Formats: sequence, C-alpha cells, structure tokens
Amino acid sequence: MPNVYDAIIIGGGHNGLTAGAYFARDGARTVVLEARNKTGGAADTSAPFSDHPDIKVTTYSYVMSLMPPTIIRELQLKRHGYDVTPFGPYFQAYPDGRAVTVYADDAAKSYDSIAEFSKKDADTLPEWEEWLKGVADVLGPMLLSVPPKVGSMHPMDVLATVQTAWKARKLGVRGVADVTKLFSMSVTDLLNNWFESDAMKGMLAVNGVIGTWAGPDEPGTAYVMLHHSIGDVGDGHLGSWGYQQGGMGGVSDSIRRSAESFGCEIRTDARVKKILVRGGRAVGVVLENGEELRAPVLVSCVHPQIAFLELVDRYELPPDFVWDIERWKTRSGVVKINVALSELPDFIAMPGKNQQDHHTGSVELCFSTEYAERAFQDAHMDRKAAERPFVDGTIPTTLDRQLAPEGVHIFSMFSQWCPDDWNKEPHRDELEAYADRVIDIYTELAPNFKGAVIDRQVIGPYDMEQDLGLIGGNIFHGELSVDQLFHMRPAPGYADYRTPIRGLYHGSSATHAGGGVNGIPGWQAFRQAKKDRILAKKK
Ligand SMILES: Cc1cc2nc3c(=O)[nH]c(=O)nc-3n(C[C@H](O)[C@H](O)[C@H](O)COP(=O)(O)OP(=O)(O)OC[C@H]3O[C@@H](n4cnc5c(N)ncnc54)[C@H](O)[C@@H]3O)c2cc1C
Repeated sequence: MPNVYDAIIIGGGHNGLTAGAYFARDGARTVVLEARNKTGGAADTSAPFSDHPDIKVTTYSYVMSLMPPTIIRELQLKRHGYDVTPFGPYFQAYPDGRAVTVYADDAAKSYDSIAEFSKKDADTLPEWEEWLKGVADVLGPMLLSVPPKVGSMHPMDVLATVQTAWKARKLGVRGVADVTKLFSMSVTDLLNNWFESDAMKGMLAVNGVIGTWAGPDEPGTAYVMLHHSIGDVGDGHLGSWGYQQGGMGGVSDSIRRSAESFGCEIRTDARVKKILVRGGRAVGVVLENGEELRAPVLVSCVHPQIAFLELVDRYELPPDFVWDIERWKTRSGVVKINVALSELPDFIAMPGKNQQDHHTGSVELCFSTEYAERAFQDAHMDRKAAERPFVDGTIPTTLDRQLAPEGVHIFSMFSQWCPDDWNKEPHRDELEAYADRVIDIYTELAPNFKGAVIDRQVIGPYDMEQDLGLIGGNIFHGELSVDQLFHMRPAPGYADYRTPIRGLYHGSSATHAGGGVNGIPGWQAFRQAKKDRILAKKK
C-alpha cells in the first residue's frame, strides 16, 4: 500500500523531522512531507551569493541553545552530524572607543570590563546570574512538561494542574514573586532594578526583545529574556549558546539523517493542500499535486494558521478554537542580514583584524534600552523601518570553518524592527536601505567594516512568510507574549500537543517550549500520539 502510513508529518522543519524520527524509531511507517525542495525550515544553511557559490550562510536561525540532551541522545544526533561549539563572550562596542565584554567562563575579565562603565554593575553581575539561574532551574524543566488544561474540572486535568503547581513550590514565596514579575514586567524595568549602566542594560535587553513585536519597555519582555537564558549547550553554562558546525542546516540534517536511519521516508516538494477529516478524525492528506496519503496519525509541524485555517475545513473545528487561532499574534518585524566579509571587523575599542575573543561571540549593537525602544517606536508608531536598528550579531566563521573559504567571514545579523505589516509586500528597497544603515553603524565602531563587505543577503518578513510559511514574519510561529504561553500556546485547552481533531497533533514552534531550535514540540507531539495509541489499544 504505497500511500498508506502509520504516521504522516506535515512540515519538514526541524520539529517535523524530530517527530518523524521518533515515530520511525518507534517502528511506525512514517513519512515527512515538506513543501520546499529541502528540509530544515528555519534551521537552514544556504549559499545565497551567486558570485560566490563557495560562501555559505546560516540563513535564518543562527545559534543553538535549548536542544534537550534527551533528544540528542535518543536520536543519536551527534553520530549524524550534530556538533555545537559553545561560542564566545557578549561584546558591545561604543563609538567613544569603549567596549563591554561579558564572558560566560571568566568572571575576572568580565568584572574588569564592566567596571569601566560601572563598578556597581560589575559587583552585581554574579548576583544577577545566580538569581537568573535560580529561576531558570525551576522553569527550565517546565519546558519539557506538557501544560495542563488549566480551568478544566476533569479529574485528570485537575491533577495535572495541581502537579504543575506542586513543581513550582520549589521556587518558594520569593521565587514565585520573581516569576510573576518576569511574566509581567518589561525587561527595561527588570534591568533597572539591577543595573545602572547603559552598557549592561543594553546588552542584556537584547534577549528580551528577540523575535518580539514589542520594545524593551513593554510588559512581558522580561519573560522573553528568561526564555533565551534557560538552555545550555551541554557545557553547564546557563544561557550559553553555540554554533552548529556548517550552520544551522547541520542541525536539521543531523535530525533528518537520524530519521532516515530509522526508516522514515522524507519527501520534499510535497506541499500539503488539505488535511482529510472523517467523522471528527484525521485520516490523511491531499498534496498540491492531488496525491492522497492516508494514516491514522497526523502531526502538523507548520504554523497554526496554515494548519487550522487553511488545511483543515473550519467547520471541523470548534468555533472558539478557530476564534483563538484567527487572533493568534504572529508579528515581529525581524530583518535578517547575512554579510560576507573579506576580513574581521577592526573595532576602535578592541583594535586588530586578527581573531580575538570578542569576535567569537555575540557582537551586539544595542547601546541602551532606550536605543532599542526607539528602534521599536520607529516601526510601531512612525510606521517606518528603524533608523538605528538593534542587532544581535555573530560571526560563526570564527569557530566554524565549514561555511566559507579561508580568510572570509560571515557576519550574521539578526535585527529589528521594520513595521509589522511588511509581510504583505517585499519592501525590497527599504530593506536594502535598512541594511545600509546597519552596516554604517557597525562601521562607526569598526571603520574597516563597510569596505570589507563582499556581498550580503537581506531577508524580511515577506520572505519569511513566502518561503517558510512564517505568517506575519514571526520567527517562532507566534509571539512569545504572556497571553500566548504555556497553557495558552497555541490555544486554551489545546496546549497538550493535541488538537480538536482526533488523530491530529500539533508539534510546531507555536506549541509550548517553542520557539527556538529545540525539537521539543515535535518530540512531545509524538509522545502524546503514542500515549493515545496505547490508551486506545487498552480500551
Ligand atoms: C530569522 C530567524 C532567526 C532565528 N534565530 C534563532 C536562533 O538563533 N536560535 C533558535 O533557537 N531559534 C531561532 N529562530 C527560531 C527557530 O528557527 C524556529 O522557532 C524553528 O526553527 C521553527 O521550527 P519548526 O520546525 O517548528 O518550523 P519551521 O522551521 O518553520 O518549519 C516548518 C516547515 O513547514 C513547511 N511547510 C509550510 N507549509 C507547508 C505545507 N502546507 N505542506 C508541507 N510543508 C509545509 C515549511 O516549508 C517549513 O520547512 C529563528 C528564526 C528565524 C526565522
């Protein structure tokens, strides 16, 4: 029966591949269906420069942090090419020739660097890290839990809610207050409580606004910072990030190879046009070319507005669920700029084109929380691309020589904001001008920057929506705002990776533990489907 499977996975991003690998490992006849001509979704490596086909970039996502060791081990990802190198310090240079550098593993060097801006902040950093670790130690494991149906009176749901609350007891009274603050405070207010220098606040604020349609002054951004501070790359440093060798496509490729080694079939150029539902149960899919595939279990690993508003007929779904998905917030104003450089930036604050520590980590462009808030307000209130965007910059080629020939470097710039409706039109000229401005600002800090540019790729919300199905250009399949987290991700009552349709599960970044390249949603969707199958057999 060629088109009959035990499990069909819709979407071949890293979550779809993870789900596919787990089903196949469990003995299920599984197929992953990917619309594009390649798998990986937003975890991708590509060669975008036609004049320089030997230069590759990590197209969209750029650093790894949150992949749980369980998934790495069970899918044997290291054997299949998963290879993440912890990256260097956080570095922010200023035009006046000063710079702050914060190391994950060298407290003394961090102290001296921060003390140039504020001795008080240098004294405070260890306390801040300890505080953050305390919260992350409790909330981190919750990323691996299935959110309960809060408010449901079903005895099992009540039990799950109580169990979740019980886990949170470890926080204590003070800790619960801290978590409440994280969920409700702006990252600016939080940082103001701890630090006094723009240098520390600007640098730390970046993690609070990544992928967020909100400036650092907006309540809730403190949580986004925590989300980006929880993981570690296996070296025990909280919130440390790393580069996958060969770019983020290497992560997806390792999961794909793992899936294939377990017998999973992977089909590219296989866009799903419809999910077939009979009597409230998912039974299969129809592809764009008219081909039909059947399976009793389906996992959607695409954006929820594609899955539930396009692929499924709305009358198959409860109206309140449709209402929630229609109103799912999915903006962000992200612009990704991948720049090929003929030499490393020679910063006024840290002279030298030879590779130094500060080149190997986050080369930030966020002078203060006000700087980031201004960039957001340009896009939000003035409806134009930010005059002076903030950038989370990295130079992966300092630790990964697979991307470009000797001597060439890739500067990966994750930046914000352009207006939230730029997903509707390409805005090509404005985005090129935006990239010019970003390069100009870096050139204020490192005068050789502009002259070293070999080529560049500028990706805006329109490209992300058209190419990947990231509706609205949101990088996480939906904003990480407090109203879209945990038991409400992606809709109240359906945060357990199940959907209103029996046999259809949801394992994209729009579910709990997403976004980010961590595989948890795909893994959880598999686990729920397996649990349901076992229960059904027992009946
Ligand atoms: C610019 C950018 C930077 C980021 N930076 C980071 C970072 O540094 N670190 C990090 O951890 N995370 C980062 N993220 C977030 C992270 O990449 C995503 O959360 C994650 O990759 C999403 O994985 P996914 O498998 O859930 O979905 P996706 O990667 O979006 O994959 C979904 C797949 O479904 C396919 N598809 C869509 N519709 C259909 C259909 N009808 N039929 C079949 N297939 C379909 C798409 O083509 C796509 O391949 C970034 C994201 C972006 C865009």
